[in-house]
Amino acid sequence: MKNTAVIDIDNTLWQFCDVFYRVLKGLHANFPPIEQWTTFDFWKQYCSEQEFIAAINSIHRDQDSDRYQPYPEARGFLQSLKERGFHVIIASHRFKETRQPTERWLARHQLAYDELHLSFEKSVLFDQAVVVVDDAPHTLEKAVANGALAAGLLFPWNLAYEENGFGLFRDLNDVLGYILTSTAGRHNR
Ligand SMILES: [Mg+2]
Repeated sequence: MKNTAVIDIDNTLWQFCDVFYRVLKGLHANFPPIEQWTTFDFWKQYCSEQEFIAAINSIHRDQDSDRYQPYPEARGFLQSLKERGFHVIIASHRFKETRQPTERWLARHQLAYDELHLSFEKSVLFDQAVVVVDDAPHTLEKAVANGALAAGLLFPWNLAYEENGFGLFRDLNDVLGYILTSTAGRHNR
């Protein structure tokens, strides 16, 4: 059996929200700053779902831009998981047409992985996952419900959920420490 870790991209391997805020601000000058993104649907009073998805997709299509740098800890984080024997599935909610720029970005920054899963329902992977790393609270809750260890970076939109059975941390080094401590002695699934 594989020791599978499912790892998100946006706001997990890089600071997607900063770029996203600039794009949204270009659409609507009064879009609130990131500190006020305290719910996952905060945007609904400022733009349509179509505009919101188009804004996200415009960034994903251009993922391999020089401007989109991973977190400094991202490479070592993934490498450490690989060295500990994890089968790393990088999983992102994005259109399949963004696979090429996403693969180029991962390769350019030497972000190690075994599989790349692009869809709008990554929870299909959770039955096989020992570890799930994500920033979306509902994704983390699903991971916990499936028996996985779940963790992510702390953001305004997940702060209210931090007592819900998953770990939220300031950076990926802290996430890694949590994973390694918590999975020591766990059986594969
Ligand atoms: Mg994310």
